[in-house]
Amino acid sequence: MQKIGILGGGQLGRMLLQAVANYDVETFVLENDNECPAAHLCHHFIKGDIKDFDAVYNFGKGLDAITIEIENVNVDALEKLEAEGVKVYPKPAVLRTIKNKILQKEYYKQHQIPTPDFVITNNRTELQQQESFLPAVHKIGEGGYDGKGVQLIDTNEDLEKGFDAPAVLEKKVAIHKEIAQMVAINEKGETALYPPVEMLFDPVLNLLDFQLCPATLEQKTLWKVEAIALSVVRNFKSPGIFAIEMFVDKDGNVLVNETAPRVHNSGHHTIEAHFSSQFDMLWRIMLGYPLGNTEAIIPSIMVNIIGSNGYSGEAKYEGLEEVLKIENAFVHIYGKKVTKPGRKMGHVTIISKEKQELIYQSNKVKNTLFVKS
Ligand code: ADP
Repeated sequence: MQKIGILGGGQLGRMLLQAVANYDVETFVLENDNECPAAHLCHHFIKGDIKDFDAVYNFGKGLDAITIEIENVNVDALEKLEAEGVKVYPKPAVLRTIKNKILQKEYYKQHQIPTPDFVITNNRTELQQQESFLPAVHKIGEGGYDGKGVQLIDTNEDLEKGFDAPAVLEKKVAIHKEIAQMVAINEKGETALYPPVEMLFDPVLNLLDFQLCPATLEQKTLWKVEAIALSVVRNFKSPGIFAIEMFVDKDGNVLVNETAPRVHNSGHHTIEAHFSSQFDMLWRIMLGYPLGNTEAIIPSIMVNIIGSNGYSGEAKYEGLEEVLKIENAFVHIYGKKVTKPGRKMGHVTIISKEKQELIYQSNKVKNTLFVKS
């Protein structure tokens, strides 16, 4: 039986563990919080800091393979483990590039992958000299997630809101659609693409909220999306699963926003709506099994369930019974003890052949299910 570890014990780790119950794997999770969503589903939970060299190295030493559910992990330790023969998905070199937005943008440029134009600013003084580059979006190099670490800089007055740290200043795109493309790639370099999804964001929280699969795109846009996503993944030369977030602008150009080298929020609907889910797919890759079938069994919408504004503390799920009565809905509660405004607490996937029905039911979920305390 293979021993495989996951760095991070959040909802992505939890869903990975749900999927691996179908296979013969001894599972390990490293996370600081022994009440985290993945803690009770693995064979071995180890309490420790995924950013700490010793914690990650000691965790990985006896394992056959290791994967991540978040980029912000100790890459030095993963490199040492890789050199000692532990397989790491994705390769640590990929993590190093992706976890820093400056290196990530330079990677796109180096490989001629379309991405919004950018300049690098090392501090606020350098940012202040970029008036002619506005309107733009300022993105901190390391440590940002879920919209924290991203600041819109429309006018000169906004310049003071930027980060006083190494960051990327990116041209503001006139976004027509935000889409995400998941790509799986195995050790042999064989690839499998999921249908792209179309996303809508909560403008206040800057959080992913609703997501439709498949995205409605013109055929030629779809081809661009697939070709660009494949070139992002192929140039990394690493097996694993990747989510490539892209913008389609008002002129039909496709631009890469960012890549996650792991299972991702934009792939949750694949659990019920696709033959092989993103979680199943990653295990297949790590276990050396054939790639799964990425095709949609049926169209879907996924709604994130996030902590309501004004409530912090032990989570209570208002309206859960109503949502459980929806016949074409699948409810996932992540088992986080504590809610806070904007925290991802669960998701609901609706399936239907009719787009109207998907929209109707997902709005119903949004207006019925609330996480309070
Ligand atoms: P995070 O990694 O925190 O999710 P993103 O880089 O994905 O940050 O940016 C968050 C959101 O900000 C995007 O989904 C998009 O709506 C908006 N955004 C990011 N970059 C640009 C851009 N260049 N032009 C316009 N909007 C952008």
